[in-house]
Amino acid sequence: MQITESKRLFAHAKNFIPGGVNSPVRAFRAVGGEPIFIKRADGAFLYDEDGNSYIELINSWGPMILGHNHPMIREAVIKAMENGTSFGAPTAREVEIAELIVSMVPSVEKVRMVNSGTEATMSAIRVARGYTGRDKFIKMEGHYHGHGDSFLISAGSGAITMGNPDSPGVTVGTAKDTLLAPYNDLEAIETLVAANKGEIAALILEPVPGNMGLCLPKPGYLQGLRDICTREGIVLIFDEVMTGFRLAKGGAQELFGVTPDMTTLGKIIGGGMPVGAYGGKKEIMEFVSPAGPVYQAGTLSGNPIAMAAGLTMLNYLNTHPEVYSRLKEIGMQIAAGMASINHKLGHDFTINQLGSMYSLFFTEESVTDFESAKKSDTALFGKYFQAMLKRGVYLAPSQFESLFLSTALTDELIGKILQAHEESIKEIL
Ligand code: PMP
Repeated sequence: MQITESKRLFAHAKNFIPGGVNSPVRAFRAVGGEPIFIKRADGAFLYDEDGNSYIELINSWGPMILGHNHPMIREAVIKAMENGTSFGAPTAREVEIAELIVSMVPSVEKVRMVNSGTEATMSAIRVARGYTGRDKFIKMEGHYHGHGDSFLISAGSGAITMGNPDSPGVTVGTAKDTLLAPYNDLEAIETLVAANKGEIAALILEPVPGNMGLCLPKPGYLQGLRDICTREGIVLIFDEVMTGFRLAKGGAQELFGVTPDMTTLGKIIGGGMPVGAYGGKKEIMEFVSPAGPVYQAGTLSGNPIAMAAGLTMLNYLNTHPEVYSRLKEIGMQIAAGMASINHKLGHDFTINQLGSMYSLFFTEESVTDFESAKKSDTALFGKYFQAMLKRGVYLAPSQFESLFLSTALTDELIGKILQAHEESIKEIL
């Protein structure tokens, strides 16, 4: 595999873009080496500037659940563009997508479109604060909710791998209203709630966290959070930017049968265009301007091209339940295949998988929270990443991410992934 054009572009990019990339994890710092520059993508494949192809296991960090460059989405975007790219005024299409989201996601009675997951979570916290008249909120260690100041406190994803979870530029004043709790520990929440009685506006979490690598909620955990929040008048927010429309058409809340008060969405909701959304109970969402006093706005929010892509994607997912059964099958085939290869080679590494999300951790201990995720041998992960890349399989360039599978993965490609896995494990150990 020849990689010269990516190297040249990266060296050039560093002159004009901080670190040469527009989002930190893309720089491959956590895995060593240099990033691959992508020219195009189609179905299950990425193609780089040197003409190499890679089987995709990140899918633009989640959105491409049907694979890349799906003809249905492409045609919807081209057709929408014929009528102009932005109006900054209401459109019929954004009403249609809002109605569809309300029908798909159990907790959402009203919804506001934004341009990213970061905007969705920042806005949801503001609304929860406005609604309750309280300042503090609880977040889980290792969960990532975008780069809003108040979330960059023990954050997951790039914030772990770049080694600065508490970023310079976030003030002490901001940080003091973010209360931290370990995931999967209801006792810790009870203790925090008792110590801050009547002062907590919201509890936000990834119901199935992907940003410290994939972890699963212990039985009863999500319902336990629901009960505490109901009892204490705390707004329960599920950040389903990753899990929304992925673990089920109604997200993790549908899968686990626990309905939060608010939900944040992103990724799949835009079909690959820059879209996020937040929604929830009518009573809470009525606080959002101009219906209510909590200000939140956006020049490009509800952009007609983005809405065309998102609407096409959601309509398809809403009417094709077989997508979810197939994704579950693919996820289980990959996880079971890797587990049996690992076992055969004498390394029972932990694999967490749910539907089309999974993470392989380089530890044999079970991974249920941030502390246990950090036990993974990240240097070994870096070697594994490079070994897989060399064999044409593109993984997330960090241990602390989930992988996202798409329906474009055929049985033949799954076979290739497993073969690459076996060769890679043999090479690095
Ligand atoms: N919440 C979660 C759970 C996420 O995984 C992410 C991004 N990976 C975000 C929020 C932020 O979304 P964005 O990158 O679109 O701002």
